[in-house]
Amino acid sequence: MLPVVALVGRPNVGKSTLFNRLTRSRDALVADFPGLTRDRKYGQANYDGFRFILIDTGGINGDEEGIDLRMAEQSLQAIVEADVVLFLVDGRDGVTVADQAIANHLRKQNKNTLLICNKIDGIDEQAAGADFYSLAMGEVFGIAAAHGRGVQKMLETALRPLAEQYPEVIVNSEEEVSSDLEHDQIDYQALPLKLAIVGRPNVGKSTLTNRILGEERVVVFDMPGTTRDSVYIPMQRNERDYILIDTAGVRRRGKIGEAIEKFSVIKTLQAIEDANVVLAVIDARETISDQDLNLIGFALNAGRSIVIAVNKWDGLTQDHKDEIKRELDRRLGFVDFARVHFISALHGTGVGHLFESVEEAYASATQRVGTSKLTRIMEMAQDEHQPPLVSGRRVKLKYAHAGGYNPPRVIIHGNQVNDLPGSYQRYLTNYFRRALGVMGTPIKIEFRESS
Ligand code: GDP
Ligand code: GDP
Repeated sequence: MLPVVALVGRPNVGKSTLFNRLTRSRDALVADFPGLTRDRKYGQANYDGFRFILIDTGGINGDEEGIDLRMAEQSLQAIVEADVVLFLVDGRDGVTVADQAIANHLRKQNKNTLLICNKIDGIDEQAAGADFYSLAMGEVFGIAAAHGRGVQKMLETALRPLAEQYPEVIVNSEEEVSSDLEHDQIDYQALPLKLAIVGRPNVGKSTLTNRILGEERVVVFDMPGTTRDSVYIPMQRNERDYILIDTAGVRRRGKIGEAIEKFSVIKTLQAIEDANVVLAVIDARETISDQDLNLIGFALNAGRSIVIAVNKWDGLTQDHKDEIKRELDRRLGFVDFARVHFISALHGTGVGHLFESVEEAYASATQRVGTSKLTRIMEMAQDEHQPPLVSGRRVKLKYAHAGGYNPPRVIIHGNQVNDLPGSYQRYLTNYFRRALGVMGTPIKIEFRESS
């Protein structure tokens, strides 16, 4: 599990700039995903040796009163549930009324909060920061989100103390090598497959969970926990062990309708983090929202396998169905490797087939491929379509090997490979995907410069 960090601040202080800096990791998936980069609200950050979940709560326009009203309910909840809050202010503007309102709100939350004074490039950092001590939020950390200055020190302070609770927050530089060896020894097919069922409120997650469990012999027990905790339910299906990660909270028979749980973004993100395969549920009776796409995008960036279930497919007219399919084609292009199922959780239609795709995605994510085969695929790709010239010299790919599983990673060594344009990287990704028959899981291709 990873800790959750929430970015808070009024508009224009630099939240998205910092968000982009922190989430643009070197390990980012090679393909970029049109439609996802705009308006991203949460992402996995991998920066300077730290890994965490980052949430941009969006701009808060707070005036002295009414701040609670103005903050979207989810932003409020993100603050409540975050492990650390980064409160951004603008070093060039000095303290504003909105900053004060936000500070008052945060103080009441009694949260672990860092006050970050952004845009200190080209101004007197000490003088700019001094003004903000009046907010009584403790130490002021000066940064320039646009240039990266001060960011590392700030992260040290924010995240180092969490390492005890979340050991995975620290990225071990030897991890890559050791995890390769480790992965080679893991018998993935013998492990329980962790399947997270995620989606917006009311898409039918509980109905689906109950439907899946209703067909199996399971013991559901009440688990203590906060709104942040999902329910982990062991089950068996087709002789394989599963752990269902239920973000909706199972509503037992007779209790449906009672205690409807609040949707928690953080709970959903943690569940995705912890899963092998994510079952993303979409409501056929609603238009696809940015939130649907963001959840899928997050799963993708976390390297999770994905199966998409379009629920409530019962009783729709043919016109309606055609329209939904067109919309799916248009908006889910970035995740075209994921199988899409049209189901009715209510009637059980199509639910069984979901598991075929879940199995397929997991098998794809954990398959082992040797160096010679990967290198051969790379050569075929290169023969069919030469890499471009960069500064007058042709980029040369030399060999490829596996860099890990779940998600599959392919490391390609060569000359000038770091200059390969995005289009060629995407070509390679798709080529590997087809050649390896990988379905339902993102592939990561990374490049290493040969010496
Ligand atoms: P948000 O509304 O809080 O998400 O703010 P943005 O990230 O969109 O930034 C608002 C403006 O501040 C943009 O024009 C950024 O280029 C600028 N900005 C952000 N960070 C810095 C910084 O470190 N230094 C300077 N000089 N400008 C910055
Ligand atoms: P959750 O918030 O995602 O857990 O959603 P629920 O499982 O509580 O479902 C929300 C509403 O959608 C309930 O009224 C369900 O009866 C209804 N629903 C769920 N699945 C289906 C379905 O397949 N077809 C139809 N018509 N309604 C459904």
